[in-house]
Amino acid sequence: KKFKPGSVFFRLEKNKPGMLLPRKGNVTTPIDVQRKQLPIYQARTRIVNELRQLHNAIVIGETGSGKTTQIPQYLFEAGIGRQGLIAITQPRRVAAISLAARVSEEKRTQLGKLVGYTVRFEDVTSPETKLKFMTDGMLLREAIGDPMLLRYTVVVLDEAHERTVHTDVLFGVVKSAQRRRRELNKIPLRVIVMSATMDVDLFSEYFNKSPVLYLEGRQHPIQIYYTKQPQSDYVQAALVSVFQIHQEAPQSHDILVFMTGQEEIEALARTCRDIAKHLPDSCGPMVVIPLYASLPPAQQLRVFQPAPKGCRKVILATNIAETSVTISGIKYVIDTGMVKAKRFNPDSGLEVLAVQRVSKAQAWQRAGRAGREDAGFCYRLYTEQEFDNLIPTTVPEIQRCNLAGVMLQLMALGIPDVMNFDFMSKPSPEAVRSAVEHLELLGAVERKDGQVLLTALGKRMASFPLEPRYAKTILLSPDFSCSEEILSIVSLLSVDTVLFNPLGRRDEILAARKKFTSSEGDHMTLLNIYRAFKKVGGNKEWCRENFVNSRNMGLVKDVQAQLREICLKLNLKLESCGADTGSVRRCLAHGMFINAAELQPDGSYLALDTHQAVAIHPSSVLFQAKPAYVVFNELLHTSRCYMRDLCLVDADWLLDAAPEYFGRKLHLTRS
Ligand code: ADP
Ligand code: MG
Repeated sequence: KKFKPGSVFFRLEKNKPGMLLPRKGNVTTPIDVQRKQLPIYQARTRIVNELRQLHNAIVIGETGSGKTTQIPQYLFEAGIGRQGLIAITQPRRVAAISLAARVSEEKRTQLGKLVGYTVRFEDVTSPETKLKFMTDGMLLREAIGDPMLLRYTVVVLDEAHERTVHTDVLFGVVKSAQRRRRELNKIPLRVIVMSATMDVDLFSEYFNKSPVLYLEGRQHPIQIYYTKQPQSDYVQAALVSVFQIHQEAPQSHDILVFMTGQEEIEALARTCRDIAKHLPDSCGPMVVIPLYASLPPAQQLRVFQPAPKGCRKVILATNIAETSVTISGIKYVIDTGMVKAKRFNPDSGLEVLAVQRVSKAQAWQRAGRAGREDAGFCYRLYTEQEFDNLIPTTVPEIQRCNLAGVMLQLMALGIPDVMNFDFMSKPSPEAVRSAVEHLELLGAVERKDGQVLLTALGKRMASFPLEPRYAKTILLSPDFSCSEEILSIVSLLSVDTVLFNPLGRRDEILAARKKFTSSEGDHMTLLNIYRAFKKVGGNKEWCRENFVNSRNMGLVKDVQAQLREICLKLNLKLESCGADTGSVRRCLAHGMFINAAELQPDGSYLALDTHQAVAIHPSSVLFQAKPAYVVFNELLHTSRCYMRDLCLVDADWLLDAAPEYFGRKLHLTRS
């Protein structure tokens, strides 16, 4: 490993074996003792002394070494940045919440007091809050009102290697805030960039030649296994591996399986539990615990609890368990080699969510989770040759997603020339052009004398923490007298699915859903379910009977309340169209016309914007009906490119929404 000159090393000594972590079983070490047992604790004075002198620093240390939970506390305890808040940003909402909970527990304070968190649609902070965990998207939103981030004295950009769009934009915003505060003689802003793994040269160069602090921990050896043959079904392969380990490795060490998303994880969890019930007595008991971003916080915390003695914990997680949360007790890692991520084709303007291969760096991070406390094993469900062919590091999201939302935010931040924004990695000119076109179609920007300017509509759109087309749909809704309905629909689409689809109960589910199903599409069906849910006052029993996820439904209400607040600030007229669902669909057609598709004579669909072949996802209520025109929410690429969440529309509405666009581009004619 090559280190930068001028780097500072902290060699972290491991404590006596068995002392380091809460033991399995019922014995738990008091939390303050746990804190002191972390290897980083011995280096704290030196770390604080270094950080005190620096305005930019990069901290690198293995996952679990204590960067995220300890360093903010050390800064606070040492009085660094006392004049303001310390922000710690996380790419994921689940990490922001669970880390804030942990740190406030360590501080023996109530969550939301000294230590709090802010994520989209949820703010658990108070005037007392000094340590604020937040998603990078939220800090970015705050920057719209306060570009110099004057409330903060320290910004810790955590998990910097993740390179989400928001992190990348935030890098530039924080850097510019720091510079402007220096120029204006304001209280300086300290910027600390942290990660377990990153391209040190790139980051150090970008952040004013930051010095690098290395926390040198020791990894235990990990044996890596590959499959002999490529696997066609990684879920099945994961299932087989879990039970092979469970039956062949007698001690109840825990297993961590890396999967791609909620539905897949929940389905596999159920299968595992079913199989576990029917195992011979010679196999010990097993608890199966899912971990993904949209999991309710209480359930998220379950992954951290040790399993009862003699019981094996099997955690099925998304890439969230790669670096952002640390789970103790893992000896076996099963890596499917897959991840769900955004992919964007600037030529077609299409952003799709696709299950794809991880990078080598991700594969190594995953394997590393097995060796935190002792020697471990990593089972890669792909061949060694497949591993060799993986890309070295993940491409930053900014180079593979639709930039319309980011551009809108940047412009609302007063950064007009997005192409010349100080990005760590620049998006391609085609992607920027495609985003500008998208915003122009929505009326959020206009060109004047070769410049791209935010319109009044665009400014209003930027008030919503939503994708531009959703914001636009809400802003249009008063014209169709259906703002209440649109707010409900957008809220329903902003949480993970409110439908609960347990495996093996298909017929029951279909029967229960039937009474809500609308021939006008999924939006209307969701709206029906939501209306019925509200009618029974959010009754849990009703949710169970109707296969509705009651927690996510509760979230929908919160989201709606917040969106409504924004609408009120914008003086938007809020009214309901009652039974006139045609107005709702007309409004959706006007807001979502970029995502429209047309039925072809052969029964397939063509996305009107890009002329790409797409299909209706089998989960849609319109799967059989095949209407002539639909608008859809998103595209999911698996074996084919599927449209998800569809709404039946008229061709005329699309033409009305964007006459020139459809006339010019698609020769759509009135019926
Ligand atoms: P890093 O940021 O370096 O990856 P963290 O600060 O997140 O490390 O975690 C440090 C240690 O704190 C972990 O090794 C783990 O033992 C403990 N820890 C963190 N979060 C929790 C939690 N929610 N519950 C129990 N222990 C936790
Ligand atoms: Mg961390």
